[in-house]
Amino acid sequence: MLGEKIIEKLKEEIPQIEYERYIKNLRYDEKRSKVDHAVFIAPNLFVANWVKRKYSKKLSQLFELETGVETFVEITTKKEPSIKKLAEKKPEINQPTTSTKINPTYTFENFVVGSSNQFAYTAAHRVAEKPGEVYNPLYIYGGTGLGKTHLLHAIGNFNLKKSKTIIYATIEQFMNDFTYHLRQKTIENFREKYRKCDILLIDDIQFLSGKEGTQEEFFHTFNELHTDGKQIVLTSDQPPKKIAGLEERLKSRFEWGLIADIQPPELETKIAIIKKKCELNGIQLEDEIVNYLAANMDSNIREIEGIILKLNAYSTLVNQEITMELAKNVLNEQKREQQKEISLKEIVDVVANELNIKPSEIKSKSRNRQIVNARRIVIYLARNLTPNSMPSLAQFFGMKDHTSVSHAMKKVKELMEKDANFKVQIDELLHKIKHANSE
Ligand code: ADP
Ligand code: MG
Repeated sequence: MLGEKIIEKLKEEIPQIEYERYIKNLRYDEKRSKVDHAVFIAPNLFVANWVKRKYSKKLSQLFELETGVETFVEITTKKEPSIKKLAEKKPEINQPTTSTKINPTYTFENFVVGSSNQFAYTAAHRVAEKPGEVYNPLYIYGGTGLGKTHLLHAIGNFNLKKSKTIIYATIEQFMNDFTYHLRQKTIENFREKYRKCDILLIDDIQFLSGKEGTQEEFFHTFNELHTDGKQIVLTSDQPPKKIAGLEERLKSRFEWGLIADIQPPELETKIAIIKKKCELNGIQLEDEIVNYLAANMDSNIREIEGIILKLNAYSTLVNQEITMELAKNVLNEQKREQQKEISLKEIVDVVANELNIKPSEIKSKSRNRQIVNARRIVIYLARNLTPNSMPSLAQFFGMKDHTSVSHAMKKVKELMEKDANFKVQIDELLHKIKHANSE
C-alpha cells in the first residue's frame, strides 16, 4: 500500500529511535486517503502533533516523489469518520465532478435585497449585465449562509440564455479536477475548460489556502481569462488580504476589480426573506409567525430556510395549520440542538484521553508538569466552551481563588502565541469536544 511504502522510505531517513517511538505507530488510512490527500492515524494527539511538526513536510515530499501529485498529509487521531460524514463525503478524486451546473432557483429575482446585501447584489447584477466589462474580478465575501453562492448562481442564470460558456465550481472542485487531469495526463483538457470560458464563477476561494500547486494553476487561469476580458467572480468568507497561506500575487489580483461584502441581514430583510422562501415553497405563514421567527432566528439564512421547511413538514404530517405554538416549539428544538451543553467532565475526559493521563489526575493537586499543563488546557477550554465563571472553575479544581484560573488562562494564551504546534493541539481539542457534542 502506498502509505506503508512512504513510511518505509521515511524510516530510512530518520533516527531509529524516532521511528520506533512515533512513526511506527502511525496507521495509513487507505479508505480516507485520496491521491492528493493522505491520511495517517496516530494513537494520540501528542504523537499526531509531534509527527505533524517534525515530518509532515517530509512525508508530503515523499508522496509527491512517488505519485507526482502535490499531496496534503493529514495526521489525525480520529479513527473512522462518522456515518453522517461518509454520506456527505465529496466525490472521489477519480471521478471529478463535471457538475458545473447552475441552480435555476438561485436567481436575482429570488434574492431579497436589503441594506446588508445591497452593495453585493448591485455589483453582481452589473457584472451579470456586462460580463468582463465593469468589475473584473468581482470578489464577494461574507459569513456563512448570507447568500454568496446564491449571487454566483444568479450571475450564471442571468447569462445562461446568452449562449455564454459559464463555469461554476467550488475551489475544491477546481482542485480535484486539476489533480485528476494531471494524473490522467490530460491537463490540456482541463486548461481548455477553465481558461476558455466566458464567465468563471469560483466559490469559497479561501480553501486555496496552503495549496501551492493549485494556486499556481489558478494564477495562470486567472491571468489568461483576465487578459482575454473574460469575467471572473470569486466568493470567500474573508477579504483577500485576510486569507492566510495565499500567495501575494493572487491576493493583489483579487483586489484588481471590486470587493463587495455581505453583512448579516437586519430584521426587515429577514422578514422579507422568510416571506420569499414561503412563497417559493408554497407555504402559508401568518405575519405574526413570520415576525416571531425573524426576531428569534440567527442570521444564517440557510438555517432560517431549514426552520421553514421543518415547520411545513410537521404541519403536513399532522395535517393542521402552522400555529404560533408549533413555530415556537420547532424553533426551540432547533436551538436546543444547536447548543447541547458541554460539561466540564466531558472536557476533562477528552483532554485526559488525548494526553494519556487519568481524569482524576487532572482534578488532583499534583504539580507534575504534564498534569499542570493538562489542567491549564482544561481551564482554557472550559472558559471557551462553557459558561463557567473563573471562581466556579477555581472551585471545581479546588484552587484557592480565581487568580489561579486567570494565571492558567494567561499561560495557555502565551504558549499558543509562541508555539504554533501547541495552538494546533488546542484547536483540535476544541474541535473534538464540540464535535463529540453535536453527534
Ligand atoms: P453562502 O454561500 O453565503 O454560505 P448561500 O448563497 O448558500 O450562502 O445561501 C444560503 C441560503 O440562503 C440559500 O438557500 C439562499 O437562497 C438563501 N439566501 C441567502 N441570502 C438570501 C437573500 N438575500 N434572499 C433570498 N434568499 C437568500
Ligand atoms: Mg456558499
